[in-house]
Formats: sequence, C-alpha cells, structure tokens
Amino acid sequence: MASHTMKAVNYVGPHKVEVQEVEIPKLEHPDDIIVKVTTAAICGSDLHMYEGRTAAEPGITFGHENMGIVEEVGEGVTLLKKGDRVVMPFNVADGRCYVAMGPYRGGQAQHIRVPYADFNALKLPAGKENEADFILLADIFPTGWHGVEISGFRPGESIAVFGAGPVGLMAAYSAVLRGASQVYVIDRVSERLKTAERIGCIPIDFTLRDPVDQIIEYNGGMVDRSVDAVGYQAVGTGGSKEQPNIVLENMIRVTRPCGGLGIPGLYVPSDPGAPDEASAKGMITLSFGKLFEKARNPTSWLSGDFLTKCNVKAYNRFLRDLIIAGRAKPSFVVSHEINIEEAVVAYEKFDKRLDGYTKVLIHPNGGF
Ligand SMILES: [Zn+2]
Repeated sequence: MASHTMKAVNYVGPHKVEVQEVEIPKLEHPDDIIVKVTTAAICGSDLHMYEGRTAAEPGITFGHENMGIVEEVGEGVTLLKKGDRVVMPFNVADGRCYVAMGPYRGGQAQHIRVPYADFNALKLPAGKENEADFILLADIFPTGWHGVEISGFRPGESIAVFGAGPVGLMAAYSAVLRGASQVYVIDRVSERLKTAERIGCIPIDFTLRDPVDQIIEYNGGMVDRSVDAVGYQAVGTGGSKEQPNIVLENMIRVTRPCGGLGIPGLYVPSDPGAPDEASAKGMITLSFGKLFEKARNPTSWLSGDFLTKCNVKAYNRFLRDLIIAGRAKPSFVVSHEINIEEAVVAYEKFDKRLDGYTKVLIHPNGGF
C-alpha cells in the first residue's frame, strides 16, 4: 500500500525550518486538484517569515511558487486532466469574487492541493523544457513586470529599479523586454549588480555614493520611472542600518515630475524587528510635500494603481507565451537547484546571502 505521508519544508520558528513528514493532501472540494510538485521556489517573502518578521505560525509549510503535474482531479474540474503540467499563481484566488485571495498550504512539499483549479492553474506545454523559466510565472516574473506596469512606463523611457534581488532583476528584465532606453539597477551585492549588467542594465552600487546623484549624473537628469523592489527592509547608503523609507525617498528624488513610481516591494502594517517605533507600526516617514509637488500633474504619480498587488493572472499567460516563443528567458535569475533535503541549508544560506544564493528552486520529487 502506498505511503500516506510526504516530505514538506515546515517553519519551526525564527531562523529554523525542517523537512518533516506530513499527510499527503486529499481532494477536499470538487474544484480541487492534487499536483505532484516538480518545482517549488524559495521566495524573498518566505525569508520574511523565516526571519520571524511576520505573523507566520510554526508548523506551516512554506512555498507559494509551485508547479508540477496534475495527479488527481476533482469532479467539478473541467479544463484540466491527470498528467497536465501546470503552474500556480502565488495569490491563489477563488476565481469568483476576485477579492477573496488567501494562502493555501505551501508547495515546498511533494504534493499540493490547489483549490479552484480551473481558474488558478495555468497549463504549460508537456515535458521538462523551460522548467526554471515557467516556475517564475508563479510570482516574480509577473510581479517584476507589474512593478514596471504600475510605474506607468512606456517604451523608450528611462527607469530606475531599486533592488537587484529576484523581483528587482525581473522588473529590470521586463523593462529591457519592453523597450526601455536606460535601465538603472541599484543594489550593493556585486553578483546581483553583475547579473543586472549582463541583461543590459546599468549597475549602481549605493554603498559607494548617493545612488540618486550617480543616476542623475549618468542619465543627464532624472529618470522617467522608478520601481521599488526592496520594501521595508531597506538599508541606507552606509549599507549597515535599516532605514525603511530610504528607497521611497530616493524614488521621489530621482523620478522626474510627471513620471511615475511603481511599488511592488513589500511594506507591512506591523514589523516586530523594525529599527524604530514608528516603522514598527508600519508608519513610514516620507517627503510627502516633495512628492505632492512632483505628482500634481495630469499623468499623476499617484494614480491609485502605483502600489497595487500583482494580479499574476493578468500577465502569466502572456509571459508564458513569451517563454515558449523563446523571447523571454527569465531563468537567468536562478542561482541554485536542490533536492528537498537540502532546503534547510538553502534557507540558511539564502537568508545570509551566502554563496550567491539569489533564487533557489526545490525539486521535491527529484528528477531534474
Ligand atoms: Zn514569491
């Protein structure tokens, strides 16, 4: 008789995950499918939980970037069949009201239950090709693309992307694909800046000198658009101290009047690890007067869209087709591919940014 348990990467407490044996998920609703996970990626937002900087409860299984092969199909599912290869968006939606988006059990495990599967699972070509590209459709490629989109970007414009982590690199890559004239990428990690340079961007090391001064000099003036791919754990020019408002402040300074800001970076309403009392309550100090002055124009900076959460489903079908057509190859951002047993070490190293860990793909059932 087949085993009823599987391996899963579970959160145990701050800075601690374990590979544990847990129950294999079952169909719970006619619209569910069960997917045998071929790839699950570790995300920067998993690290927020890993570090104990969120309300994540011990015992949860990590992983919201998942793909695999359909192995069981609920009787209400009409568009998918056993054997289909699928990728799921991180914000699995119930597909009926567009509002109820909620977490489901994580996919850094050998199997995963996907609710409302017809709506949530995006079908992929059969086989193993482009696995490392397709997994990025779960979150970071659409999220990076979305950051550029909500900045109001148009082809030919210049853009500054703050943060060369996976989402920042995807935003920069999206800007390149979409015909930006100049793409500046601001970070302090040399491997990340080198990766940005390889895809045709101009690397800006903010530990050397004020990044806004550097960009304005290089660009001969302010840029048209900017994207925050850092969020609330930003650090100042010295590089040692957290300063939650620094990226937003730099964006206000570096973006021209009538330009636009896109903020896919994460900000939270409460942060137990914040450097000061106000930001612990999610209150970020901003040069709002300066922002208002630059923004009070017809094509406003503050269109109401500029910090919307990425709706993966608005983009993932088209980005999938760019990958299939060979016009996009976002997997350049992947640094490591591992078995599930190696996940504990991968979390440690990724958290400390050791050994070039940037984007880690777990293959929970092996085979890659
Ligand atoms: Zn993610």
